[in-house]
Amino acid sequence: MYRAIMNSARLSGAKQKALLRGQQARMLNVHEYISMDIMKGYGIATPTGQVVSSVDEAEHVYVNMLNKGDAVVKAQVLSGGRGLGTFKNGFKGGVHLATTLGDVKKFTESMLGQHLVTKQSGPAGIVCNKVLLVERLYMRREMYLSIMMDRTTQGPMIVASPVGGTSIEDVAASNPEKIFTEPIDIMEGLSEEAAAGIATKIGLEPGTATHAAGADLVKRLYKMMIATDATLVEINPLAETNDGRIVAADAKLNFDDNAEYRQKQIFAKRDYTQEDPREVEAHKYDLNYIGLSGNIGCMVNGAGLAMSTMDIIKLKGGDPANFLDVGGGATEEQVHKAFEILNADPKVKTILVNIFGGIMRCDVIAAGILSAAKQIGMKKPIVIRLQGTNVDEAQKLIQASGFRMIVVDELEEAATKAVAIANIVKQRT
Ligand code: GDP
Ligand code: MN
Repeated sequence: MYRAIMNSARLSGAKQKALLRGQQARMLNVHEYISMDIMKGYGIATPTGQVVSSVDEAEHVYVNMLNKGDAVVKAQVLSGGRGLGTFKNGFKGGVHLATTLGDVKKFTESMLGQHLVTKQSGPAGIVCNKVLLVERLYMRREMYLSIMMDRTTQGPMIVASPVGGTSIEDVAASNPEKIFTEPIDIMEGLSEEAAAGIATKIGLEPGTATHAAGADLVKRLYKMMIATDATLVEINPLAETNDGRIVAADAKLNFDDNAEYRQKQIFAKRDYTQEDPREVEAHKYDLNYIGLSGNIGCMVNGAGLAMSTMDIIKLKGGDPANFLDVGGGATEEQVHKAFEILNADPKVKTILVNIFGGIMRCDVIAAGILSAAKQIGMKKPIVIRLQGTNVDEAQKLIQASGFRMIVVDELEEAATKAVAIANIVKQRT
């Protein structure tokens, strides 16, 4: 399970960690230009610029808004490490410095409509439908500043470094002494002293206007985080410009999905083109689904059981295609949908259903699967392991349906069978 999650290129680091803790791993990730807009609303300095979706628009912004000054052209793709990424058309880099109109047009043209492959995106890459065009900042220094919800301290935690621009994981490996953390008591909020202390730690000279601007930015960032229900705000690099300004040169915001009801404006900015379509579909039906790269589709109730199911598949030499927890109180409709998603996934060679009926009744699961199978046809072999509440009724439903499903009592046997079937199907195709 650990390896399945860590090797899944489509999972962000935060999602991976949440999954490993057995938590629901849903959050909203928005584009850099949206993050910058939100920051601007809280008085945080961001570069002048605008998002565009055509070469003509880019020309217009470059000429009229940036007055043909040096600019940065940035692919709006929901992934970190864009700068070092490569587009599928061979064009290198999702972030480029432009000094002429020709540059701006060429870069925009090369990015729009193309898929950018980064360290985090997986080999298929993520489509770039928008490009952010901003003034170039002349940076004296690149720093790092983030605030995240931290599990250990059960509250917000500032992570800051005088070294920015590269990934914070790399800094942690090469210069751990240059990373500073500061837990914040959410009831007391962020004090003036703590904000000033962070400004000093990221290398700003106490007593200067630049230091005051840094401390002010830390405070505004914290205020924004709380007000918007963000789980992560990250600025990398945070720029100290040659003329002494502190500007967010990059911005990444994540939001807590549970806050959707009170952050409607922000959640309306979700860009589904950037997400795994299987996850998008599952999300609509409130299913806890995460796409992985293997070929055994799993349908399980309960996050812990889902984890152990994935573990045992791995142990038997197989590879799960997903993490799917239908939850304790799934309806027949949700089960139907879950089955549909697994069935439609071309990577899935066989489906393993592992249900422990407690609150969830086995017959409800069986009814959901059967109704889906009737409607869309049963295209893939299914191994079912059911235990617990109403298991006998479930068995009867399956037998009466006439569909051939492999029903087993024990998880180990179920996993062994699923792995064997997946291997056979794989050889045939
Ligand atoms: P990421 O690779 O997805 O994190 O994208 P960033 O927005 O962080 O851009 C990548 C890199 O480009 C940054 O780490 C900077 O080193 C550089 N960069 C971005 N904006 C500017 C800018 O305005 N001026 C300069 N000199 N470099 C920039
Ligand atoms: Mn960055």
